[in-house]
Parts: sequence; structure tokens; C-alpha cells
Amino acid sequence: MLRNRRNWGAVALILTATAVTLLFTRSDEDSVGVPWEFHRNSQMMEVCRTGILTVMADTIDTFTSTIGEGFLGGAVRDLGISGGQYLATCEILMDSLGWTVQRSGDTLAAIYCRGELSELRAYPGNRRGFYRIAYNAGDPSMWEYVPQERWIRQRAVSCEISTTVWDALWDTALPGDLSGSGLLISSRDSSRAVGYVSELQHALTDRLFVYDIDFYYDVKVGDKLWILIEENRYPLDGETGFRRILAAKYQFVHGGMAEAFPFFHRPDEAESAEIILDHYHRDGASLRTMFLKMPVPFGRISSGYSNARMHPVLGYTRAHRGIDYASPLGTEIYAVGDGTITVRSWTGGYGNMVRIRHANGYETGYGHMNGYASGQSVGSYVRQGEIIGYVGSTGLSTGPHVHFEMKRNGSYVNPATEIMPPADPLEGEELDRFLAEMLVIEAQWSMLVGIDLPVPEVEIEPEVVAEEPVE
Ligand SMILES: [Zn+2]
Repeated sequence: MLRNRRNWGAVALILTATAVTLLFTRSDEDSVGVPWEFHRNSQMMEVCRTGILTVMADTIDTFTSTIGEGFLGGAVRDLGISGGQYLATCEILMDSLGWTVQRSGDTLAAIYCRGELSELRAYPGNRRGFYRIAYNAGDPSMWEYVPQERWIRQRAVSCEISTTVWDALWDTALPGDLSGSGLLISSRDSSRAVGYVSELQHALTDRLFVYDIDFYYDVKVGDKLWILIEENRYPLDGETGFRRILAAKYQFVHGGMAEAFPFFHRPDEAESAEIILDHYHRDGASLRTMFLKMPVPFGRISSGYSNARMHPVLGYTRAHRGIDYASPLGTEIYAVGDGTITVRSWTGGYGNMVRIRHANGYETGYGHMNGYASGQSVGSYVRQGEIIGYVGSTGLSTGPHVHFEMKRNGSYVNPATEIMPPADPLEGEELDRFLAEMLVIEAQWSMLVGIDLPVPEVEIEPEVVAEEPVE
């Protein structure tokens, strides 16, 4: 009898492993452009998986633990993993799977079958996929990163401002899975809804229109807003995530409007061949300036740019040719402009540091980092606003902050007073392609919204005036 149960346990384990693998592996046939096909498959798999788990219900135990303040080891131990298994597990997660930055909120789940560890899953809070380690007779036998399947859709949102931009987006921009019933049923749903609107508003006010609209003073009741949003859809759980804004129009009630149109292209400076999305005005002028105002989403200037100050650690007077932004440990640090990483290493007093070379003789540096963003190295081309690391206190530092400095043609400049040049406008062939695509996008967007979207009033062409006889 005991022998039979053991055999059944082994069979069940193999079945589970097969089902899990099928569930989370996308074959080449499942094209992103054919979501219905995939959806049907995943439903079938779900039925299959539920069946297996029902049979196995009394043999399987699942434990979870949450990572606090970046400590992986404690969370692994909380799952009952110890000794050699503990060391092997931590090593695989960090060295083989490259999960080097743990943040509070990341979770681990251990699946035990008849008291023996069979699988460990690590869910990074900021990603959709997860890391998976399978164990055989207690030893790790296989590990992988499992990206969750997703497909992308476009959605058009129209709203009118009656109080604030936030309220307008909250009332009109939530996707169906968060607003369909009109009732938010769980705290997870409500935090996802808040997260969605926050990301959307951030992309709109702090990125897209940051130089075109002053969202404190310009916004008036009666202003209208149209946004073309790109979203991620995750068929397995039916959830929607905000991806990016493709296009937007903001019409002021007292006249005038701001517009942003998308253009996919390869930037000239790029050493990678990746196609990127930039936004332009109707005439092909860029919406952004060459640099962001600061390298962190929020932060307090704890030390400004000066030619002489008392150094808090060294204790003597020394120039501070940069700006320090105090921010919580682990806050994301952005590249302030497009460019190529030239330094990404320990640099004495500045601890872990990244330096980026930009166009027009500019260079920026970011010091005291807690850690670097994954997937980048010296020579990587990064975009404006891309995460390059996380706030820390490494090197000569009294607390978590980022030391941010800027050079132009090799000399330090004060980033706070340096006049930020605009990013390059579109020209030549690129401009022609942008103008043609813009008309198509505007027509399709109008169809999605169901009205003819407004366009700015056309200014009188100088040629018309020139036809009049000149005195
Ligand atoms: Zn500093």
C-alpha cells in the first residue's frame, strides 16, 4: 500500500511538472496576433491542471513567504529550506537566474509533495514572470525564468476635466477588468486600479506633456483630453496592465491644444539596432528636451552645486560639483537623457557609479548606487527615463541619496542652471514618413473614439499674404 502511494506521488509530480510547463510555455505557433487561439488553449490547460491538483490535493502543501528589505536568505529559510538545499537554492536564484535585486514585496512560494520540496517559485513584485526551480529527490534539477504570456492591445480614452486630471482618468480610463462591474471587489483590484491610473498620469503629466503643459496652472474645468493607450493583456488571469501612451491630445477650454504623436524609429546615436518609440508635435518637433530635470522620480535636494562646501564625511571643505537628491533606499534612478553607458563600476568615494555619454559633448554621472539595473553593461545604449540603477549609500555617503553630476566638453556644469537643449526634430525622410503615418493614426484613432478628433486651428500661410500687392 505504501509502495503504491509512493508511485502515485511520483506520477502526480510528473503530471504537475508537465501541466505547469505547458501552461507557461508559449510555442511558436501561438502567435501574439492570434490571442483567441491561445486563450482557448490556456482554458483547456487550466481544466487539466485543476483536475490534477484536485486529485493531489491531500498530498501537496504550498508555503509562501515575503521578502522584506532585500533579504533573500530569511525568506528562503522561512519556507523550511535549510542546509545544502538552502545554499544551492540561493545560489541558483542569484547566480544562475540573475535575480540579484530583491525588493520588499517580492514573494517566494515553495511546493512540497508528501513533505518533500518539489518546486520553488520566486515572484518579483515588479515583473509579470517568475523564477522557477524544480527539485528532484530534494536536489535542484532544473531552473528557468518563466515570462507570463501577454498580448498587446490599443485602447482610446476620452475625458473632460471636471476637477483634476487624476479624477478624470480615474472615471474614464480604467480598463474593463478593473471597472466592468463598477465595483472593486478586492484590495488587490483596488491597488491595481490605483497603480494603473498612477502610471497613466505619470506618463502623461511627468513625461509626455511635461514641457508643454503646466498641470498646476494650465488645467481648467472643461478642458478635454484624448489618449490612445497601449496595454498589456495577460490571458492567464485576464488582467490588464498599462504599457505606454501612443498618442494624446489636450484641448484647452480657452483655446489652443497640445498634441503628441508616436514615431517608431532607430535613434542615430544607438549602437543597438532596437526600434524605439518617440513622440513629436504635429510639425515633427520633439516633445522632450535633451535631459530630464532630475534622475529620480521624487527626491529632496540635500546638497546643491557649489565650488566649496564642508564635506560631511571627510570633514574639510571641498567643492561639490553636482547635486545630491535624498531618496529612499532602492528608489529607481533614471538616465536623464539618451546615451551610452561609459562607466558602471565602483569608483571610490562615489561608490557604485554609472556614467553616460550623451550627444553634443554632454556627460552625466550617478553615484552611491545600491545596485545597477539588470541587462545593462558598459557600451549599452539607454533611453531617457530608462532605469539604470537604484538609490543607495555606497562609498563616502551619510545616507541614501544619488549624487548627480553633469559635464559639458569635459568641464563640470550645474545641472540646475544648464539650459536644456531640445531633443532633435525629425527631418528629411523621417519627417515625411512621420507626417504620412500621423494622418493614418489620426484617422484610425477617430474611428476608435467615434468622433472626428479636433485638430489645431491652421495659421494663415505666409504665401497667401505674399500674394497681396506690396506697397
Ligand atoms: Zn554629491
